[in-house]
Amino acid sequence: MNIIDGKIISEQIKTEIAAEVRKMIADGKNPPHLAAILVGEDPASQTYVASKERSCKEVGFTSSIYRYPATMSEAELLKAIEFLNNDDEVDGFIVQLPVPKHISVDKIIESINPKKDVDGFHPINAGRMMASLPSYLPATPYGIMQMLERSNIETEGKHCVVLGRSNIVGTPVSVLMSRNSKNANATVTICHSKTKNLAEITRQADILIAAIGKPLFVTADMVKEGATVIDVGIHRVASPDTKSGFKLVGDVDFANVSKKCSNISPVPGGVGLMTIVSLLENTLKAAKKEVYK
Ligand code: NAP
Repeated sequence: MNIIDGKIISEQIKTEIAAEVRKMIADGKNPPHLAAILVGEDPASQTYVASKERSCKEVGFTSSIYRYPATMSEAELLKAIEFLNNDDEVDGFIVQLPVPKHISVDKIIESINPKKDVDGFHPINAGRMMASLPSYLPATPYGIMQMLERSNIETEGKHCVVLGRSNIVGTPVSVLMSRNSKNANATVTICHSKTKNLAEITRQADILIAAIGKPLFVTADMVKEGATVIDVGIHRVASPDTKSGFKLVGDVDFANVSKKCSNISPVPGGVGLMTIVSLLENTLKAAKKEVYK
């Protein structure tokens, strides 16, 4: 059994990005600049934004964080987005989700200039992805595709079962896996909460991507011998074995599933690390005007 090590793969990609940044600077260009808008005090969001900032530093990007109170109105947030849309110094930016309930997520995403939408959530980027046109790919699905490609996992003609159909993970990764392109070309089945006989379907998977949001949901009896399993879930659960009293687990029962499969991504140390580097890759593309001229 091979562990698909998100740490090793993400470090490789960061090294490649850092080399490109050094080249840009040597050519007299500015390093890529990623900005993040953070509304409110959600601890998980603060952690994500801090680690995005750290990753920017590691590869030589400029980064800036715009922090606002949870009481910020939707109109004020739209104004902050408009400011970044028009700021020539900023190549790409994200609005860290979730935003407070009184703010419409759809309105926020649609107000971001697609050319700067490095999260790849804007309907224009989602539509371009569907049409296989150049676009910013959503970070987590993009990271999963890179994990498979860089681990030399054959996808063509394989049956890929995706658990979950969210707009940020399940649906886009199913589109990317079924694309008529290198390192894709899989036959894809998407499962969701209304799927009947789920285990019967997951047992047919050569590649199983679990993005369901339920800790340890995928058990060994749901997995075919020799399958590749990508675990997208992240959950903080109580644990008597750690000093802090909690540990991170995924959507997959790693201890038992890993005994059956040929490749598996762990949690932590898997997809989560890839998500951040995908954001860096999109920002580099934005700075180099590779997607939109
Ligand atoms: P989400 O929006 O909650 O979507 C979960 C999906 O799973 C939905 O499509 C839901 O079906 C389906 N589902 C729920 N219970 C099910 C069941 N019993 N049987 C079959 N399908 C079921 O979640 P998400 O945003 O895609 O995230 C999924 C997980 O990945 C979460 O743990 C999240 O924290 C994690 N995540 C990790 C990263 C990373 O960087 N590693 C990034 C994003 C998300 P319905 O559509 O029918 O409700």
